[in-house]
Amino acid sequence: MKKILIVITLSLLCLLVCSQAKDKDTDKSSDLHFKIRTLDTHCDLPMKMSWYDMGEEHDFGYVDLPRMKKGGLDGEFMAVFIPQGPLDTNGRERAFKNADEIIDLIEKQARAYPQLCRTGKSVEDYLAITGSGRICILTGMENGYPIGKDINKLDYFYNRGARYLTLCHFEDNDICDSSTDEKNPDDRGLSPFGIEVVKRMNGLGMIIDVSHISRKSFFDVLKYSGKPVIASHSCINAIKEHPQNLTDEQLLAIKKNGGVVNIDMVPDQLRYPVEIPEMKAEMDSVLSWLESAGGYEKLNAEQKDYFTRETRRIKLKYPEGVGLVSEFADHIDYVKNLIGIDYVGIGTDFEGGGCLGDCYTVLDIPNITIELIRRGYTKSDIEKIWGGNFLRVFKEVQDTGNKIISSFHYLQPGSFFTPLFLHSQEKRTFSGSFYSVCHR
Ligand SMILES: [Zn+2]
Repeated sequence: MKKILIVITLSLLCLLVCSQAKDKDTDKSSDLHFKIRTLDTHCDLPMKMSWYDMGEEHDFGYVDLPRMKKGGLDGEFMAVFIPQGPLDTNGRERAFKNADEIIDLIEKQARAYPQLCRTGKSVEDYLAITGSGRICILTGMENGYPIGKDINKLDYFYNRGARYLTLCHFEDNDICDSSTDEKNPDDRGLSPFGIEVVKRMNGLGMIIDVSHISRKSFFDVLKYSGKPVIASHSCINAIKEHPQNLTDEQLLAIKKNGGVVNIDMVPDQLRYPVEIPEMKAEMDSVLSWLESAGGYEKLNAEQKDYFTRETRRIKLKYPEGVGLVSEFADHIDYVKNLIGIDYVGIGTDFEGGGCLGDCYTVLDIPNITIELIRRGYTKSDIEKIWGGNFLRVFKEVQDTGNKIISSFHYLQPGSFFTPLFLHSQEKRTFSGSFYSVCHR
């Protein structure tokens, strides 16, 4: 009996010590997260900057400066996203003006909070700004549609600070074919104009982003680009089959090219749906309410707020139904195991569909670092993942570019900006599954 008591006492003691040790480990992991520099290569916040003040802390949405600070995020690539529209003169011109207006919004919001952030255009800017304790706001363009068929517009956006360009989005454009254009299933790869764009980007010192582009477009880009490329937000096809996800052959090609793959958090790309009946029932009830109200666009502000809070409440109640940090880390592991630690990074796609049940907003990103430490990644590995690898590519591309400045000048656009167009939900209609929808 005495022996049993001693065993029980020892077990309890061990449990207590072990749980304390675990807590201590978690604290240490969190400490490390706040000691290293962290860069996210893709965020769609600019889509809503016409009405959302990034300097204020919100209790909805995914990213703002105060929450970036609290979550320990030092650098963010803000995506100038333009949904694909008609390939005609009006469509191209409208895309150009809208993209230009979005860059204005990013600059305006960043200028309003000089104590919190500064905009950066180079690796040196990033190091200086983050070194001063501020958040570095960088600009990337998601979709080459605003370039139209005019190479000078590439120079224009480079001069406005865009440092990467995702060549296309969900549909084919003048530059290349997309991985998800169901209207044109043929994969024609890069167009002759696209080849010109790739070469000009190399010349300018602008990073080519292969996220969203078709398989043939991808290999065409690697054929014509003399510089390393990035996937700013992509996942791994061997884990979840998805047209936007990268195959092993593509990963091996990126290693050869010296590029970097930044893993995103879009549930549809990350994992096969996990259906939780209770979650589905709750979500179905909200969705049928939405349908009876005539759809999201018909809701008034109060109803929109209700819808946002309700869907968020349900997702947070059933995190495993959304996606988990451990599943996100599986994609990082996969890249590391196949091509090495030097070729992987993080591009959350917050505000554009990316979110996890246990990393729902930018506040929660220390959970990623904690998971990486749990899996045995060293401090140096984690620094590489949280931006170090990306910066290697950024440095090589910027330093070997000759910064061609176009002699072609555009007038600043007037009041062409149409908020309705920018708020279109077109971007995420590719998947019908509510599991993939993190953008409200
Ligand atoms: Zn995207």
